Amino acid sequence: MKKIILIGVILLTSCKTLFTNKTPLKPQIKKVFNEGIVFADNEFDGARLNGLKKVNDSTYQVYIKPENTPINKSPWYSFRIWSKEPTKILLEFVYPKEYKHRYIPKSSFDGMEWMPFEKKDYDIDTLNKKLKLDLMLGPKKRWISAQEIYNSKFIWNWIDSLSQKDFINQEVVGKSVYGKPIKLLRIKKQTAKNAVVFIGRQHPPEIPGGTIALMSFVQTILADTEVAKKFREKFEVLVFPLLNPDGVDNGNWRHNANGKDLNRDWISFAQPESKSVRDWLINSREKGVTSEYRFGIDFHTSRSTYLLVLDSIPKKVKPNVTNQWIKNIKLLRNEKLDIRPRSQSLPYCYNWMINQFGMEAVTYEDGDEVDRNVVRKRAEDYATELMKVLNDKFE
Ligand SMILES: [Zn+2]
Repeated sequence: MKKIILIGVILLTSCKTLFTNKTPLKPQIKKVFNEGIVFADNEFDGARLNGLKKVNDSTYQVYIKPENTPINKSPWYSFRIWSKEPTKILLEFVYPKEYKHRYIPKSSFDGMEWMPFEKKDYDIDTLNKKLKLDLMLGPKKRWISAQEIYNSKFIWNWIDSLSQKDFINQEVVGKSVYGKPIKLLRIKKQTAKNAVVFIGRQHPPEIPGGTIALMSFVQTILADTEVAKKFREKFEVLVFPLLNPDGVDNGNWRHNANGKDLNRDWISFAQPESKSVRDWLINSREKGVTSEYRFGIDFHTSRSTYLLVLDSIPKKVKPNVTNQWIKNIKLLRNEKLDIRPRSQSLPYCYNWMINQFGMEAVTYEDGDEVDRNVVRKRAEDYATELMKVLNDKFE
């Protein structure tokens, strides 16, 4: 069994790679770095900066390291940079040599509004895949980040803003390695006799699919449309929007604070984050606190947009929601979908859902650099079509 799991996993790419024998996690030293007239810091949640070096009068380097190794080759970086007086510099990004550049840099002056750099402002060395960025600096701090910063504070503020409605509540279901809360957002009307489960941000850098798409799904379900109103009468929505708060706030490339990949923990449950979600879902179902789980989505980001689905839906699982949903989406959006079946023996969250509860589930992946309005619209369409199918198939 173990051999099959390993072979299966090694064949997968991007967000889906399994590693063993990891080195212990080294916490990032939080500080203001200074070289010549240039300053840079990592003193905010989500930051990742391990060093700054002046090479010559106009060239500087930032050093970026992973939390532990081995790890996916996806360097996450995020820092603020400024200078005493206005100056133009070339900023080189230096990762340990086995890691190639992945994310197009984004810029912000307030940490909230973000813009990707234009192609003319950066160069990616095709041989070494290192990033060089032309930058104008001044005394105003400028954020440079692999993706927008959607850290725990941002996500908790978002669920607080939703919890004003009387049918929406929050619960803390457990604690992370560093003691941060694992929160559940619960949308529940008294009439609901079924439930869906959404999981977000097991992997820290996965902003577009892991947070932006998840938020759009939830907002579509809370909208004042006929399909959403009917859905909320029938379905409770259980949203775990941030499974890995330690990894997210510490600017980890991939792992939790134990240096482990949470989306490889859904068989062994050795990590407190995945274990607390498992325990809550099982206990609540056993006690009748929640209704029967009908569908689950685990939200992620990869280099492209696709769905991971179950390689076979067991006959005992009726009715078949996934296939109908995919058909409807193709029709609505008039596009080909990238659907990737995966063995149910893999230790992924969505596989656990079907193995544990017999509920259908998918892993939803959006692309790193997809325009954020396109990410939101795709999620809105997928959510609308999912609600229609579930409304039809369940009482
Ligand atoms: Zn992922």
